[in-house]
Amino acid sequence: MDLRFTESEEAFRAEARAWLDANVPHELPSGDTRDGFALHLDWERKLFDDRWAVVSWPKEYGRREASLIEWLIFEEEYYRAGGPQRVTQNGIFLLAPTVFEFGTKEQQDRILPRMAGAEDLWCQGWSEPNAGSDLAGIKSTARRDEGGWRLTGQKTWTTRGAFCTHLFGLFRTDPEAQRHRGMSYFLVPLDAEGVTVRGFGRLDGDEGFAEVFFEDVFVPDGDVLGEVNKGWNVAMATTGSERGLTLRSPGRFMATAARLVELWKSQPEPSIDDDVVACWMDAEAYRWQTYATVARLMDGAKAGAEASLTKLFWSELDVRLHETALRLLGPDAELEGPWMKGFEFALAGPIYAGTNEIQRNVVAERVLGLPR
Ligand SMILES: Cc1cc2nc3c(=O)[nH]c(=O)nc-3n(C[C@H](O)[C@H](O)[C@H](O)COP(=O)(O)OP(=O)(O)OC[C@H]3O[C@@H](n4cnc5c(N)ncnc54)[C@H](O)[C@@H]3O)c2cc1C
Repeated sequence: MDLRFTESEEAFRAEARAWLDANVPHELPSGDTRDGFALHLDWERKLFDDRWAVVSWPKEYGRREASLIEWLIFEEEYYRAGGPQRVTQNGIFLLAPTVFEFGTKEQQDRILPRMAGAEDLWCQGWSEPNAGSDLAGIKSTARRDEGGWRLTGQKTWTTRGAFCTHLFGLFRTDPEAQRHRGMSYFLVPLDAEGVTVRGFGRLDGDEGFAEVFFEDVFVPDGDVLGEVNKGWNVAMATTGSERGLTLRSPGRFMATAARLVELWKSQPEPSIDDDVVACWMDAEAYRWQTYATVARLMDGAKAGAEASLTKLFWSELDVRLHETALRLLGPDAELEGPWMKGFEFALAGPIYAGTNEIQRNVVAERVLGLPR
C-alpha cells in the first residue's frame, strides 16, 4: 500500500489551492434563502467558467476529467479554503452520476452541460407526505399519453425546490405492479404546465424546502431516465451517490474538525480535550476510509450497500463535531452564528438521504447478512 500522492496529484492540489485561495467568497448568506441562493449561483458559475465546477467530468463537457482521487483532493482544498456548500449539489452530485450511468447520449449531452454551468438547477422529488423511509410506498402516478406520460401527485421535503428549475423524481407507471416494481424515474422542468411549487420554511428559519404538486403534467418519453418500470434500480444508483461518496466527501468534515481544533486552541477546556481529539481522528479516519473505497472503485468495484455504513459515519460525525464545539463555547453557544447554524443542520444528517435507522437495517441485512 502506498499512501503518498503522485507528483501530478500534488500539482493538481497546488493549482486548486492557489485558485481557491484567490477566489472563494467569504461571508455568503445561506444558500437556502432566495437571495442567498442567487448569490451562490454567481459563485457556482465562476467555478464553472474556470473549470472547477465538476472537475471529474469528461473533457467532452469541457471539464478536467480528473480522477476520483483528484476529485477528493479538490474537495479537501475547497472546504479548507472555506468554500460554501454547493447549492447545485443535488444535480452535480446525485443526478449526474445517474445520468452518466443510465442516460442516453442525447440525454447526457442535453442535461449535463447546463447542469454543470448552473443554468438548470435540479432538486430531488422522492419523498411524499406518506412515503419517506418507505420510498416504495410512493403514490404519485404517471399515466401513458401519446409520446410521453402525464404525472399526477405530490412530493414534499424538496430541498431548495422553490429556487430550482428542474426536478428528478419517481412516479408509478404501472398501477398494477407491487411496491418496488412499476416505477419510473422522470426528469421534469418545474415550469411545465400543471406544476405548482410551494416553498416553506425549516425550523432554522430558512425557506429551504418545497412541496411540489403535479396535475396532469406532460413529460415526453425522452425525459424518462433508464427503463420504464425499472425506476427503482435507477433510484438506487442515485441513493448510492447520496449516502456514499459524492454528497458528503471527507474534505467537508476535515475542515470542520480543523475549525474545531482552532476553537479549542483559542479557549481550551481540559474536560473536552479527548472529545476534540476523537473528532479530529474520526474525520481523518473517514478520509482514509474514503481513499480506500475510491481505490476499489477505480479498480472497477461497485459501491453497493456499504454506502449505508458511510452515511451512518459521516452523519453521526457531523453531529459530534458540532456538539463538541457548542460545549467548548459553553453558555455563549446560542449567541454564536456559524457553529449553532451548523449544529442545527447537522441534526438533519441522520434524517435526510434515508434515516439512520433505515441505514442500520440495510447494513444488518445486506452487509452483515442478518435475517430481516
Ligand atoms: C434536511 C432534509 C432535506 C431533505 N431533502 C429531501 C429532498 O430534497 N428530496 C426528498 O425527496 N426528500 C428529502 N428529505 C426527506 C427525507 O428523505 C425523509 O425525511 C426521510 O426519508 C424520512 O422520511 P419521513 O420524514 O417520511 O419519516 P418516516 O419515514 O415517517 O420515519 C419516521 C421515523 O420512523 C423511523 N422508521 C421508519 N421506518 C422504519 C423502519 N422500517 N425501521 C426502523 N425505523 C423506521 C425513521 O427512521 C424515523 O425515525 C429531506 C429531509 C431533510 C431532513
